[in-house]
Amino acid sequence: KYHSQLVELKGNIRVLCRLKPVTEVDQREGEVSTAVSTEPGSDSSVTTRYKGKERTFELDKVFLPEATQEEVFLEIEPLVLSCLDGYNVCIFAYGQTGSGKTYTMEGVPEDPGINQRALQALYQEMEARAGLWKYSVTLSMVEIYNEVIRDLLGKEPQEKLDIKLNPDGSGQLHVPGLTSVEVQGLREIRKVPGDRNRATYCTNMNERSSRSHALLTITITGTNCSTGTKTSGKLNLVDLAGSERVWKSGAQGERLKEAQSINKSLLALGEVIQALRARQGHVPFRNSKLTYLLQDSLGKGNKTVMMVQISLLEKNAGETMCSLKFAQRVC
Ligand code: ADP
Ligand code: MG
Repeated sequence: KYHSQLVELKGNIRVLCRLKPVTEVDQREGEVSTAVSTEPGSDSSVTTRYKGKERTFELDKVFLPEATQEEVFLEIEPLVLSCLDGYNVCIFAYGQTGSGKTYTMEGVPEDPGINQRALQALYQEMEARAGLWKYSVTLSMVEIYNEVIRDLLGKEPQEKLDIKLNPDGSGQLHVPGLTSVEVQGLREIRKVPGDRNRATYCTNMNERSSRSHALLTITITGTNCSTGTKTSGKLNLVDLAGSERVWKSGAQGERLKEAQSINKSLLALGEVIQALRARQGHVPFRNSKLTYLLQDSLGKGNKTVMMVQISLLEKNAGETMCSLKFAQRVC
């Protein structure tokens, strides 16, 4: 079940694309889904049309609208499980608002997404290794909004956090004051109050969540029962802010400021991944809070999945083209 060799062969950065199915609401509203097509027999190419231009993109894998939450998870399960062997893994959902990022990461109660499935798979594997390895699991959860990091598990949800690099000389990143909660099992995780906190200070949670990055970090420390050897790995699950280019619609004031900081941080993320891909000496981690916060999980020896969510609808063709160009840049 666990193919770490396969993971190695495919490299450390995988770019996947998920096509969002046309919903009943879309149909009722008479939306047409002509912006995207795929080629039968290929599971890695996707073609999109915008303003008379057609472009085909080759990615690592394309999930058709019919793809289930389980199929999506199975594709990344080996990477998720590599956290138990001391790897740091990042999984990002990228795309315009409404393209299915939260559906892919959180899912819905009757059909959970990557976050729940990852935790389930991790606990299952830890159980299978009981007797050989003893593991401890902690969670932390932050939101990054307008380049400000907020602790979603803290007692004071409004608390702003700073990042300190290497305060003790160990090369580790440290976020003073960040709450991390030790959890014993899946049932306990459901009681972790992250979303409640997120809601308490947001007048309109949906609105806000589309303009902030949400990061759930699962840290797993293992101790080998016979040798005492320790491993430490992290799984970072990131529901990114919507990638739509709202400033083009003449946004002003607060809305423009939000748009600029989203644009800046998504751009910074793309540049960091590109630099890692190209094995450049200098990786510009510090150009955004998100990449700064994730710098010990991105990069050397770690594993990254970029899940690019796209819409099939004609009205979204411009954003779909942009999202696929982003996917291609980091692929
Ligand atoms: P985003 O987080 O990118 O703004 P959402 O995940 O909230 O988008 O998706 C928008 C709507 O579409 C939600 O109602 C969600 O349940 C639905 N949706 C998204 N992807 C799928 C899918 N693959 N299958 C069924 N419904 C989906
Ligand atoms: Mg969302």
